[in-house]
Parts: sequence; structure tokens; C-alpha cells
Amino acid sequence: MSDCIFCRIAQGKAEARIVYQDEEVTAFHDLNPRAPVHVLIIPNRHIASVAEAGVEDEPVLGKLFTVACRAAEELGVTDYRLVINNGPQAGQSVFHLHVHLLGGRRMSWPPG
Ligand code: AMP
Repeated sequence: MSDCIFCRIAQGKAEARIVYQDEEVTAFHDLNPRAPVHVLIIPNRHIASVAEAGVEDEPVLGKLFTVACRAAEELGVTDYRLVINNGPQAGQSVFHLHVHLLGGRRMSWPPG
């Protein structure tokens, strides 16, 4: 989608600090980090939210998590949180599916 900022990042048309990229997924640093390590992992193909993902998306959904764990290792965090916000009430503000990797500080529970 040409008006989707995360599609533009995946396509190299918008700036981002890329951590990892292949033909299916892209990982990049969050512009407004909420933790010392805050990386977003996205499918390159536009999927608006995790609820919009279909059975055909199951392989890429799995890959988001393995890439997130590898990024955490490379960035030197062993304890971290992986978060997906689904819908505005849950805090989703960008409607291109993304996993947040948050680490490098103590986390509280439950999230607000
Ligand atoms: P969410 O609120 O779960 O939809 O998360 C969206 C995240 O995207 C927020 O943490 C934003 O700081 C981040 N974000 C928005 N625009 C950009 C961008 N251009 N580059 C990197 N991160 C972004």
C-alpha cells in the first residue's frame, strides 16, 4: 500500500534503521523507543493487523517471532517482551501488522 509507512519502509522508500531484512520480513528500530531496545518486526506484504492474517500467512507469522528472537540476541538482550497490539483500543496506531520487541529494562505486568 503506497500510503502505508511500514510498506514504504519495507520497500526502502522511507527511512528506517534496519536491523534485518529478507524477502518476507523487515525488522527496524522504533522511531519513538519505549525501552533501550525497541524493534519492530513486520511482514513485507501488507497485512493490516494480526486479526486480518489468514491461514496463508501462518509461515510469515512464525517468522516474525524467530526474527524477533534473533534480533534480541544480536542486540544483546536475553529477557524481553514481544507485543502485538490489535485495534485502536489495544494501542494499535499503525495498521500494518508488527511485533514489538522491547528489552533492556525491567518490565511491569500487566501492561497498561
Ligand atoms: P502500535 O502503536 O502498536 O501500532 O505501534 C506503532 C509503532 O510504530 C510505535 O511504537 C511508533 O513509535 C512506531 N513508528 C511509527 N512510525 C514509525 C516510523 N516511521 N519508523 C519507525 N517506527 C515508527
